[in-house]
Amino acid sequence: MRDFKYQRFLKTAERISSTRALIDGREVVLFCANDYLGLANHPEVISAASEAARNHGFGAGSAPLISGHTQYHENLRRELARFKSAESSLLFGSGYSANTGTIPAIAGKDDIIFSDRLNHASIIDGCRLSGAKINIYDHNDHVHLKKLLAEKSGGRKLVVTEGVFSMDGDIAPLPEIIHAANAYGAGLYIDEAHSTGVLGDTGRGIFEHFNMSPGPGIMQMGTLGKALGSYGAFAAGDGKYIKLLMNTARSFIFSTSLPSPACAAALAALSVLQREPERLSRLHENARILREGFKKIGYEAKGGGTPIIPVIVGEADDAVKLSDALLISGFYAPAIRPPTVPEGQCRIRFTVSATHAPSDIYALLEAMKRL
Ligand SMILES: *Cc1c(COP(=O)(O)O)cnc(C)c1O
Repeated sequence: MRDFKYQRFLKTAERISSTRALIDGREVVLFCANDYLGLANHPEVISAASEAARNHGFGAGSAPLISGHTQYHENLRRELARFKSAESSLLFGSGYSANTGTIPAIAGKDDIIFSDRLNHASIIDGCRLSGAKINIYDHNDHVHLKKLLAEKSGGRKLVVTEGVFSMDGDIAPLPEIIHAANAYGAGLYIDEAHSTGVLGDTGRGIFEHFNMSPGPGIMQMGTLGKALGSYGAFAAGDGKYIKLLMNTARSFIFSTSLPSPACAAALAALSVLQREPERLSRLHENARILREGFKKIGYEAKGGGTPIIPVIVGEADDAVKLSDALLISGFYAPAIRPPTVPEGQCRIRFTVSATHAPSDIYALLEAMKRL
């Protein structure tokens, strides 16, 4: 059996919403979910999912290329392509499955991948599965990226990064990365798990944030399970790449389609998001209050401009102790330990939602001041 250093535990929520959870019979304020806009519990999202389940049943019954592709899947694909300003898109069972299916479909053993040091485990696994030569560049360091792009040759090149980094809460320097990629004829794959529904005035993601449009040769991946309050994922890009995925991405071909209710929920979430952009301003306002509040009481939070606000504690035991003490005070945000983050960089990864009341945030800051 494989050995492991840090034991993980499941906490059972007896009830949960974007900001509250009932754990061990006690109601606590949640500061760790990725339901950034509170859409998982939105009445329109719930009723769209219920209606889809009534019309089509719950499970899709087969893989997308067999009979698992319904009008809900097709409508969602179209809507996501439009939302991400891409020619086309394709749905996957999860973000993990999208990354492990898409990256090996667009890069192979004769190719060279340039991957940010802090990329998510599913990206790392996708890169490994591709068989390509992998070069790691320092986190968000476009100068290092450029140096590696210049040094390495002998294959097609692909740069792979997250838009918003899931554990550090910072934003990739997209214009510089694109500039570097273009200078060396490299493609770009960008994981927008935490930027879809979060960045940009209308939540379209990192391209909107930087006032850019995704050019040819750029593949955007995003998830439905975070800001969109559903489950599943997508890849969006040029039609020829989407065709390639449909024909070669193994996690797409050999896996059951998303349940129709998950597609209907994501469609409803996209519509609420576009109709109520004030959710985005509330989200960023809440993030600003928490981030600045931490600074005032002497905690240095990593990142900036995103609702992911990590406070570095250092050693695993200390992070667990702080998280336990927070739970006793009525706040839930678990400790994040290796291999999710590097040794000595254990942290509490706080996240805010548009649906937190400012008083929730001030109460958390009070508790952190005491601890
Ligand atoms: C959460 C996450 C994923 C995985 O998405 P799931 O739909 O939860 O499988 C992929 N990439 C990043 C950066 C993530 O944060």
